[in-house]
Amino acid sequence: MPKIQASEHPYVVYSTPDGGVGERRALRAIDYDGKPLERGELIPLPDGATLSMMPQRLAAGLDLQGERHALARSWGWALAALLPIGYTRVKLPGYTQTPDSEPLPFFGYAAVAGWRGRLYVAAVRTDDPERWLSRNFDLTQLETLVQQRLAAEPENRMLAHHAHCALDYHCPTASNLFFSRWEAACAVSGGCNARCVGCISKQEEEGLVSPQDRLTFTPSEQEIADAAVAHLDVADDAIFSFGQGCEGEPLLQFRLIERAIRAIRQRTQRGTININTNASNPHALSRLYAAGLDSLRASTISARRETYDAYYRPIGYTFEHVKQSLVLARDAGVYSSINLLCFPGLIDCEDEIAALVAFLRETGVRLVQLRNLNIDPEVLWPRVPKPSGRPLGMLALIDALRREAPDVIIGNFSRPVGRRKEGIEAC
Ligand code: SF4
Repeated sequence: MPKIQASEHPYVVYSTPDGGVGERRALRAIDYDGKPLERGELIPLPDGATLSMMPQRLAAGLDLQGERHALARSWGWALAALLPIGYTRVKLPGYTQTPDSEPLPFFGYAAVAGWRGRLYVAAVRTDDPERWLSRNFDLTQLETLVQQRLAAEPENRMLAHHAHCALDYHCPTASNLFFSRWEAACAVSGGCNARCVGCISKQEEEGLVSPQDRLTFTPSEQEIADAAVAHLDVADDAIFSFGQGCEGEPLLQFRLIERAIRAIRQRTQRGTININTNASNPHALSRLYAAGLDSLRASTISARRETYDAYYRPIGYTFEHVKQSLVLARDAGVYSSINLLCFPGLIDCEDEIAALVAFLRETGVRLVQLRNLNIDPEVLWPRVPKPSGRPLGMLALIDALRREAPDVIIGNFSRPVGRRKEGIEAC
């Protein structure tokens, strides 16, 4: 058998002390479980992806004998990629933790490798990333639009809040509120009835820092309706979405949202009114369906109760309520999707995949939005039960969904489904 040259395999790349990218062609690149990254799992690093150093994680790989080696600290740290919306991560990065390592910031780390002098990432394209790419969010133009809007509507606190999200976090949906296009954000709730392990707006545990500040006030019906109508009336493919990363659970404000939806629809019939939610309250959602909500996106990490409970740590509701909310949406003609929090090694196991397919059939969900879960693996794994089934891989998960639920769209973001006609009660 011919001697295998190391460079015939995807090889280790790492973050150098001066912030550059180094390569170690003698070492095969590996994933989080120490398995070699295969060519078929890798794509060239796409436009919009960013590279991320993994502090206190040494780059690691396999030599030709299959022995694992970690690069010394002096070489630098392990490297990962953060993907734009439109791409789904298929493998977590491999590394060797240093004894004094601290939790990593809440990002969606994807495995990277070198191949014939180019950078590759373990990912698959699952939707059109164009509208989410930073080149479509000119910051100078955005600053001007924000200033003009806030000057024109100085009383609207909701706009001021999302101006902060747009300019400081570069949040695409908050920015769209000022660009007057596509999907725009509307946060309404400072509280939540879940305590997600990976919550990006509130972390209670020592040493874990949420990347965003949570909303601290409740906007008025007028503030919401004014911003919504201004958006829905002019934006291309207009979506006005309640439920953002910078707030808690919007359903805790369902009466406010119900009044706002009715007020919005008295002023415009254009566009889509959507809610991103943990779908914990079927009664509250039924009121929003009756008021004219057009679509909803329910967040979940699993269709198995034990995994769901371990991650969401729900307060006063169960996964059965989430299912019931989606079934009621189907019956009311509300376009439903799930925001499936994707973590390779967890949701791509046999038992998780089987449960997910059954869940999609039972609830009539129309779209699965694959979301790379933003969390340090060392934070998540100790807090969720290890799945009992064999890990089949993210590519196998996506294939299974396409095969077993062919009517369900697989993508990464909400669709402008337009104004619902059926099942709306007059106020
Ligand atoms: S449902 Fe949302 S806001 Fe609530 S804990 Fe989970 S991620 Fe955070």
